[in-house]
Amino acid sequence: MSAVGDIIRNSRKIVVKIGSQTLSDDHGAVNEAAMHNIVEQLHELMNMGKQLIIVSSGAGICGVGAINKWHRKEDINYKQALCAIGQVELMMAYKELFGEYGVHVGQMLLSRDDFGDHMRNLHIRNTLFTLVDEGVVPIINENDSVSVEEIKIGDNDTLSALTANLWGADLLIILSDIDGIYDKNPKDNKDAELIEEVYDIDGLMLEIDSTGKSRFGTGGVVTKITAAEKVTEYGIPLILANGTKPDILRKIVAGTEKATIFYGK
Ligand code: ADP
Repeated sequence: MSAVGDIIRNSRKIVVKIGSQTLSDDHGAVNEAAMHNIVEQLHELMNMGKQLIIVSSGAGICGVGAINKWHRKEDINYKQALCAIGQVELMMAYKELFGEYGVHVGQMLLSRDDFGDHMRNLHIRNTLFTLVDEGVVPIINENDSVSVEEIKIGDNDTLSALTANLWGADLLIILSDIDGIYDKNPKDNKDAELIEEVYDIDGLMLEIDSTGKSRFGTGGVVTKITAAEKVTEYGIPLILANGTKPDILRKIVAGTEKATIFYGK
């Protein structure tokens, strides 16, 4: 049995962040089979008695898929418009997939201000607790169409960390397109080595090369490490795993696939 598997088995309240890479195929379209597979596994976790909150990226990709234009436009208005269109598609897909198991989903679109304000914090917490208590899966994303650069959280790794802390999660799982943190970018370096366990994040930052990110991601590996800093401060461990691999959650629970785990302080 693996350390990662043990942590998942022992955690009851889990936030799962699903990256855009996990939800899209090589052409940048929504990968329906992958989404189906993830939801199936999330439902299995629920059957194991776990409570889940999802933080999901992918609105932009879904937007491009829905209207098949504007994807080359750099203009912020078009980007936000694409996210507005895609968010509906994304939620429709989740609603349908969870619906197969008779599970309802609820959407929450948040921005940085929401976390900075005491009353808003309280309302987010209460809504999350109510949804989860009633067996509904909250699906959170940044409210892209109201978020200009200055007030943005900016990436869903950070949003998932803020959510995990606010909810008092036992574990944050980030699904990306890599098996975990490597000593250098594995996309450019064939000899990159996976770091399976991290106790000292400051030390890790000094040791690894973290430049480069993939085509649709906004965060790169640095935001995943920053997210780990945020949650481990509250004693919450973070697992970074490869969401593009089928059955990844089952496999890391069983210990047949590797991942990186950041331990809580
Ligand atoms: P997501 O869309 O899932 O949030 P990102 O594309 O933002 O994912 O970030 C993950 C990418 O970060 C990986 O695909 C990888 O190419 C890159 N990366 C850069 N340095 C590293 C490293 N040291 N270890 C792992 N990944 C790295």
